[in-house]
Amino acid sequence: MSDVIVVGAGPAGAMTAKTAAEKGLEVLLLERELEIGVPDKCGEFLPSLEEMRRLTPDVRDLESLFDPPEEFVCNRTKYVRFIFPNEVEISVDFKGVVVERKLLDKHLANEAARAGADVATSTKALDILGNGEGVRARSLDSLREIPSRTVVAADGAYSLIARRAGLPVSRDSLDYGVGFQYEMVNVEHDSDYVDMYLGEDIAPGTYAWIIPKGDDVANVGTGMRIPYKKPGMNVRDYQHNFVENNPRSSAKLRRAKPTAIKAGCIPVGGPLENTSTDRVIAVGDAGGHTISTVGGGIPPGLICGRLAGQALASHILEGGPLREFDKAWRERMGRTLENALRIRKMGDILFRKKKRIDWVSKRGWLNEEMIEKFILCEMDTKMKLVEKTLGLISQR
Ligand SMILES: Cc1cc2nc3c(=O)[nH]c(=O)nc-3n(C[C@H](O)[C@H](O)[C@H](O)COP(=O)(O)OP(=O)(O)OC[C@H]3O[C@@H](n4cnc5c(N)ncnc54)[C@H](O)[C@@H]3O)c2cc1C
Repeated sequence: MSDVIVVGAGPAGAMTAKTAAEKGLEVLLLERELEIGVPDKCGEFLPSLEEMRRLTPDVRDLESLFDPPEEFVCNRTKYVRFIFPNEVEISVDFKGVVVERKLLDKHLANEAARAGADVATSTKALDILGNGEGVRARSLDSLREIPSRTVVAADGAYSLIARRAGLPVSRDSLDYGVGFQYEMVNVEHDSDYVDMYLGEDIAPGTYAWIIPKGDDVANVGTGMRIPYKKPGMNVRDYQHNFVENNPRSSAKLRRAKPTAIKAGCIPVGGPLENTSTDRVIAVGDAGGHTISTVGGGIPPGLICGRLAGQALASHILEGGPLREFDKAWRERMGRTLENALRIRKMGDILFRKKKRIDWVSKRGWLNEEMIEKFILCEMDTKMKLVEKTLGLISQR
């Protein structure tokens, strides 16, 4: 019997499996797809190591998580540019790394296997056994019950395993963003810049993006949140408008051709109130561990995955309660994730309506300082004042 079954070999699951295996646990990592990393659903953007130090100041040893091998790095960006519908455009220094996500995920799973974890692809977990005494899973030629001491739900957004374990996964569609993206070639865009386009007609409740992967290759995508969309529109319609009709973006995409479609859903409602039971942990998207302002889930997935592996080891080897996992990620990531959620809620009030963007622009609030705090999830006195004022406006 294994000590841990990890369901899902994305960044969070692979990092959990690797860390637990390094500590000497018997780990089985299950992945429903034929091949790890495929299909990828990602803008492939990560903050650089130095930005991660600013974004997650409470996390130790970021070096070992945020220095991806050079062969997966497609581009290094220098700035993030926010483009608002009222022609206001604000760029801030924020260094990023654009990776080939398929290779990154496979590398992380390889690392888990090197550390001793068994990896089973084409194996879909269908249910949890009892309170977490294993899983029922279907592989290519069998349906079986696999026993284990603990189970990790790392199966992504709206996690089946977390829900079956009784963890409080949100059912509110406001808590999820939907993204639709092309990888495109012939894109005429400065590869130093990641562009984020806001506005209710462009990407209701989130943003649209151009993330350059190289000279003329970029991930071009559009997000939306269902309660904010216009009736009759879907995310592909918004993507069509972004690529073809929005004057700012379409000018860069006149000759662009899609070479891949990547689409998926991302939790933006903040971490689950509770991410562990006596035998089950939910981590990564499954645990709501995402930066909800921008929908970035790889960095928190890696950080919380490592903490999950450590919590599993102290539970199995020393008898510590598994629920310590909640305490561990709250200590290290709690501030960043909670601030991100507060700032996302501010963005919901502020960035959706053009007239509100005009209103804050006129007051000089929409400036580099504010955008930097938005990106770095900083809630200082000034941001708290803006939050309070926006709260009052939204009640009108
Ligand atoms: C369009 C789009 C663009 C994005 N861009 C970025 C970005 O640029 N940067 C960033 O940081 N984040 C981005 N994200 C978010 C990011 O992709 C996720 O937050 C991240 O992948 C979460 O990692 P994870 O390991 O928790 O889950 P996932 O990566 O979703 O991995 C879950 C794994 O579990 C497997 N699985 C699911 N159910 C089962 C089952 N029952 N049995 C076995 N296996 C199962 C899945 O196949 C998958 O491999 C983007 C998301 C979308 C949709």
